[in-house]
Amino acid sequence: MLNDTHNPGLRSWVETANSPGADFPIQNLPLGVFRRKGSADAPRIGVGIGDQILDLHRASELGLLEALPRAVVEAAAMSTLNGLMALGQGSMSQLRRELVAILHANGRRAEPDSLVPIEHVELFLPADIGDYTDFYASIFHATRVGEIFRPKNPLPPNYKHLPIAYHGRSSSIVPSGTPIRRPSGQTRGEGDQPVFRPSERLDYEVEIGVFVGTGAGQPLTMAESEGHIFGLCLLNDWSARDIQAWESQPLGPFLSKNFATTVSPWVVTYEALVPFRSPAFARDGGDPQPLPYLRSTFNETAGGFDVNVNVSLRSEAMRMSGAESVALSAGSLRDMYWTPAQMLVHHASSGCSLRPGDLLATGTVSGADKGSEGCLLEMTQNGATPIRLPDGETRAFLADGDVVTMRAFCERAGYTRIGFGRCEGRVLAAVARRD
Ligand code: MN
Repeated sequence: MLNDTHNPGLRSWVETANSPGADFPIQNLPLGVFRRKGSADAPRIGVGIGDQILDLHRASELGLLEALPRAVVEAAAMSTLNGLMALGQGSMSQLRRELVAILHANGRRAEPDSLVPIEHVELFLPADIGDYTDFYASIFHATRVGEIFRPKNPLPPNYKHLPIAYHGRSSSIVPSGTPIRRPSGQTRGEGDQPVFRPSERLDYEVEIGVFVGTGAGQPLTMAESEGHIFGLCLLNDWSARDIQAWESQPLGPFLSKNFATTVSPWVVTYEALVPFRSPAFARDGGDPQPLPYLRSTFNETAGGFDVNVNVSLRSEAMRMSGAESVALSAGSLRDMYWTPAQMLVHHASSGCSLRPGDLLATGTVSGADKGSEGCLLEMTQNGATPIRLPDGETRAFLADGDVVTMRAFCERAGYTRIGFGRCEGRVLAAVARRD
């Protein structure tokens, strides 16, 4: 529900939060886990405001959170967001109101030592992620990828009936800024003979991560599922296409995806996203309706999230010559065939339990139009049509030294724009293998 915390007239005494285009205005208040660079302190939960972090542990010591229930204060003093996630949206709403009371222009000013410049901290994974599942929810992505590998039958027959996913691996999830080592693996060589070598088709996938709040199990209804969404982040599902092509039949991705997945360190909360909800994907007249357990009126009118995502790349040569990164694509979560609520309900429908801090990813966010393809596989037609960088280099897939940067933001007339921060990683050369 919209409330006073979404008022576009709200301003903060942290001046950088008021700049037009700032990712973290007072209407956003994303949560992250940080530590001052060079310190050996336990990581702390913080709130992004302009170019600063409000240290919730320090704010609590200063008595700034004393209006909140004890359970919320205790969860806010932990070293991951899992405690807050488990408390549910009602508690998060109370916390958000208090944060606005502290940070708005006429608010109770925090002591200076409760604010830390973001550039002076290292940011960690926001949660202890128990399980990670990656969906495949863009029909445009699924169709383009299908056309490359199964031209006669690009979309599998189940696609319009269920949100397809594979179980990923939480151990490989790393926060933005972590270097990404090019994986080696078994791929198809000459004459269908397998060969073990560094991946020659390393790719990214721009996705949105959905953190599970309060746990959920069977039965989970569409009406309940919205209440289990804690918040969203950016996610890069790094993918080795040559390894993927050889290993994925019949069970799907395995080692081609589990070497690294990058997330942005900030979680934009469910309530911050209220102004940016959108209808679920408008299915073509000829498309089937989902089965009843995946349908609700709310979902059809407002189950989507209008989140814009974009990807840019800076090669090693561009960095050496001082060139800025170049934009590769821009898409929107609006274009996904399945909503996060449908993913949650389908995931739990077998009896699978979802726990606080579990992460679901939407799958590559790609739209219908050229320029909205969320990975190189689509953009270059599996390497057949390489893209040209401004300095004349070409890319069919990623080269060592490439830095891939993803950003996301929400924008709607009458509301303050909010951003997700960055999800970034630099590709390192493969480790030489000695057999
Ligand atoms: Mn993916």
